[in-house]
Amino acid sequence: MKTSKPGRAKRLPPAVVEEIFRRFHARDPEPKGELEYVDPYTLLVAVVLSAQATDVGVNKATRRLYAEAATPEAMVALGEERVREHIRTIGLFRTKAKNVIALSERLIAEHGGAVPPSRAALELLPGVGRKTANVVMNTAFGEPTIAVDTHLFRVGNRTRLAPGKTPLEVELGLEAAVPDAYRRHAHHWLILHGRYVCKARKPDCFRCLIEDLCPFEPKTPGPG
Ligand code: SF4
Repeated sequence: MKTSKPGRAKRLPPAVVEEIFRRFHARDPEPKGELEYVDPYTLLVAVVLSAQATDVGVNKATRRLYAEAATPEAMVALGEERVREHIRTIGLFRTKAKNVIALSERLIAEHGGAVPPSRAALELLPGVGRKTANVVMNTAFGEPTIAVDTHLFRVGNRTRLAPGKTPLEVELGLEAAVPDAYRRHAHHWLILHGRYVCKARKPDCFRCLIEDLCPFEPKTPGPG
C-alpha cells in the first residue's frame, strides 16, 4: 500500500512537525527560491511565467526580457509581440505574454506602477492566482504565506504534514500545522524538498532528512 488517501489521513503530531522544521532550519536557515528577480515586479512576472515551466527555463527567458524591460512602464512600451518573442521557449507563452502586458497596465493604472503588498489586490491582476500571490507575498514582502504548487501538494500529503484533496486544503492545513517560527520559510523548504528529494515518481527516501519521521510507505530504500 502506498500512502493514505488525501484528506482522510491523520495529521502528524505537533512535536513531530516541530522536529521536521527544526531539521530543515538547521540544514538551511535561509532557503531561497530559484527564480531570478531584482524587485517585486520582476518576481511577479517571473512567477506568472513559471506556470507549467521550469525555473531554469523561466530564468533564461527573463534574462533576455528584463534586459529590455524590467518595469511595468518599459514592459508596456515593449509591447505584447516583443514579450512573446522573448518568452516563446516556455509553455503557454501566448497567454502569458498577454497577461504580462495586461498586469503591467493595471499596475500603472491602479497602483502607481508598484506591486501591491496585498494578496487580495494581487489576485485581481491578470494571470495571478492564489498560488502566485502567495509566492509574491512571501518572497517579495516577507509574509508567512505558503504557496501550494505540485511539490507542496505532494509533500504535504506524503508526509501528512497537511493531508488534503485540493491545494487550498493543503495550504490551510500547513498554515495550521507549521509552527510560527518556521512559517516564513516553510514554502521554500518544502518546495526544494519536493523538487530534489521527495520527487514525484520516486522519492529519494534513502537520503531524506526526515525519513524517520515520515509515515509514507513504501520508502525508497536506496538509489537505482
Ligand atoms: S521519507 Fe520519502 S516520502 Fe517521506 S518525505 Fe522523505 S522522501 Fe518524501
